[in-house]
Amino acid sequence: MNKYDVIVVGGGIMGASLTYYLSLFGKRVLLVEKTDLDHGSAGATDGYITPHTKQPGYHLQLALESCKLYETLEEEIESDIDIELALHCGGLQVCEDQRQWELISDNREKLSAGGLELYMLETEEARKIEPAISPKMRGAMYSPIASGVNPFKLTQAFADKAKKLGAEIFIETKVESLVFDGPRVAGIRAAGFRGGTWYADYVADCCGSWGAQFAALAGVEVPIVPKRGQVIVSEPVAPLLNTVMQTGLYPIIKFKPELIEDERIFRLGLGFGMEQTRDGSILISGTRELAGFDRGNTLECIEAVIQTAAVYIPAITGLYFIRCFSGLRPHTPDGLPILGRVKQVPGFIMCCGHEGDGIALAPISGKLVAEEIVYGKTSFPIEACAAERFTER
Ligand SMILES: Cc1cc2nc3c(=O)[nH]c(=O)nc-3n(C[C@H](O)[C@H](O)[C@H](O)COP(=O)(O)OP(=O)(O)OC[C@H]3O[C@@H](n4cnc5c(N)ncnc54)[C@H](O)[C@@H]3O)c2cc1C
Repeated sequence: MNKYDVIVVGGGIMGASLTYYLSLFGKRVLLVEKTDLDHGSAGATDGYITPHTKQPGYHLQLALESCKLYETLEEEIESDIDIELALHCGGLQVCEDQRQWELISDNREKLSAGGLELYMLETEEARKIEPAISPKMRGAMYSPIASGVNPFKLTQAFADKAKKLGAEIFIETKVESLVFDGPRVAGIRAAGFRGGTWYADYVADCCGSWGAQFAALAGVEVPIVPKRGQVIVSEPVAPLLNTVMQTGLYPIIKFKPELIEDERIFRLGLGFGMEQTRDGSILISGTRELAGFDRGNTLECIEAVIQTAAVYIPAITGLYFIRCFSGLRPHTPDGLPILGRVKQVPGFIMCCGHEGDGIALAPISGKLVAEEIVYGKTSFPIEACAAERFTER
């Protein structure tokens, strides 16, 4: 039978999460991915679950809702795959100088007003939590609830559980056009391994950085653009980092890059984020670049990111770096994702545009969009994430 309740397009973390929640709520779901699961950002990312890197207000509240889901996710999905969840490993934003300290202190006040527990720590105190921090730093903001996960494995675990609940997954199958029944989206036409025409009551756009291109097939215009992030990976080493961390410039680079005066920092979106994976590798990520869909790595960035990170964590200068990769963050102008039904096109659903927050927001995004499809209402508001916000202002 080639008719489903929902066809989810895009096998990244969003597609896998949405497929899981829809299957959990009893829907017959087909997930279609043009290459393989994790081909997009989920396979080329960090795994920070950090509410303190969100904008104060709605964005933060959405992240806190997602954190609640992460608390019980492992038990819930009962996967054989170890998703390497490091619940409450803690997160630090390290300030190099007084300017960053003031910037982060100001941000802390706004985030704390939203109910997030955060502390400004002098360097000596921060080094008790993360001894690798340079003693020359000004201090750090500390979030005790920050966590980490292996995004690649979480995507696989969501997909695995969805399959156990009855979902079908087609890989190496690209959706090339949509089937319409009057104004309503009624299915997909796909090419590749499982090419053909498949029908559904709803089609969901979980295409990440390709989300705007996919929405265009439905005649929907949304401003999602890819922002490239380059990541450098060290050989596995003995435990060096306890937390997930970023530079104190992070909120500016992410949300207000126009305030950056330094040409190179502005052009590369240069900062750094650092974590140590379960196998001991240190992952240093550090750029937010407008480079189209180019997923290459550049010598300029590799050098600049390592040099920046070494100012904060001097011990990394003694490491061997063994590879690098880059991924695309699906960026929207206001930093919020696009979630839920698209009013102008019945049957068309969106769950994409999560920029640098898709891992943190994956459980809540999949759950809320599934609730909207299945129950027609959500347990947490998603109006702020409507596709129409870009056109109806
Ligand atoms: C360097 C870097 C670091 C990051 N760090 C973090 C972090 O620490 N914490 C965090 O929360 N977020 C982080 N992010 C962001 C996060 O990775 C993304 O927001 C998230 O992975 C997006 O997931 P997605 O499923 O929407 O998109 P993707 O993973 O890109 O998946 C989209 C999928 O759609 C498929 N597709 C596209 N078009 C079609 C079509 N026509 N037919 C079929 N399939 C199609 C693609 O092949 C792709 O697999 C980071 C991103 C980068 C690049």
